[in-house]
Amino acid sequence: MKNIKDYNLDSLKEEFIKIGEKPFRAEQVFKWIYEAKVTDFDEMTNLSLDLREKLKNIYTMCNFKILKKQESSDGTKKYLFDVLDGNAIETVLMSYHHGYSLCVSSQIGCKMGCKFCASTGINFIRNLTSGEIVEQILAVERDNNIRISNIVFMGIGEPLNNYTNVVNAIRIINNPKGLNIGARHISISTSGLVPGIYRLAEENIQCTLSISLHATTNEQRSKMMPVNNAFPIEELLKACKDYIEKTNRRISFEYALAKDNNDNLEDAKRLCKLLKGMICHINLIPINKIENGEFTKSSNENIMRFRDYLNEHGIVATIRRELGSDIDAACGQLRRKNL
Ligand code: SAH
Repeated sequence: MKNIKDYNLDSLKEEFIKIGEKPFRAEQVFKWIYEAKVTDFDEMTNLSLDLREKLKNIYTMCNFKILKKQESSDGTKKYLFDVLDGNAIETVLMSYHHGYSLCVSSQIGCKMGCKFCASTGINFIRNLTSGEIVEQILAVERDNNIRISNIVFMGIGEPLNNYTNVVNAIRIINNPKGLNIGARHISISTSGLVPGIYRLAEENIQCTLSISLHATTNEQRSKMMPVNNAFPIEELLKACKDYIEKTNRRISFEYALAKDNNDNLEDAKRLCKLLKGMICHINLIPINKIENGEFTKSSNENIMRFRDYLNEHGIVATIRRELGSDIDAACGQLRRKNL
């Protein structure tokens, strides 16, 4: 069966024409799913009984089942969802003063192999479909009776490695008749897949791009992130400059600070030099040590010194608040758990 949530509004209209239905019916169905947030075709009361039966025979609604839910002392909630084929993925809900933010997964497993990340070391299974990406949002909204206002593609997987499905999911999330979350409230985080960055710059979506930079020399970065061997820092930053130029959007660089690895003032100095003149923001993440990982968290003193150096040298840097670390829901801690 096809997943009805894999279609954006335009492709659903085309699909409905193929099955002999009028395009406005597609719009009605789309609104039932994303505005009214129903979970069953039978709830779509402005469709005839015949049409509902027909749709039920062709499409599934792909409502995820919650396998496990954990709540942190800071209110962060981690969900383990059954994606309905025997696989499971994690999604994290964070609550901020300005609303709810959801960290979604884009793949079951990850191919990038970053040395400090818990999603490494589990086999890559497959890409998530667009419908499975948006269902993470719908399922968490249903469970909490809330409306989520921010989406970050920072869960399991490399979003630019599942480019088509991620961009299609963003079209559903962003559509005013869909989840209606503004593009500026959607962030894609990438380990640095350069061709994907060039491609995204042409999409005409105003989402925020976050780059996982984490190091200032190729030697250092390649040790942490194998992707750097294919796309070294100079090429990555060139793509970032192109993205800024074409979209007029500020880029956010993520920099996970690991003790005695990338956290001294020489690193900060090199970082300033690398990013000089770019419209950007740096998110400093105290690295979370993973099981058997070689990287450990920098001291608070070093983290603050690093931030202050950047701020004093004209680069806006903030330290990311650590949420959900007591339930393994913080940055880099998500895994695909066995059922
Ligand atoms: N594949 C994408 C998105 C997933 S990771 C990417 O690489 O950007 C989201 C962010 O968490 C990335 O910046 C990633 O580098 C960071 N991260 C991964 N493991 C971490 C860890 N153990 N501690 C802190 N940040 C981590």
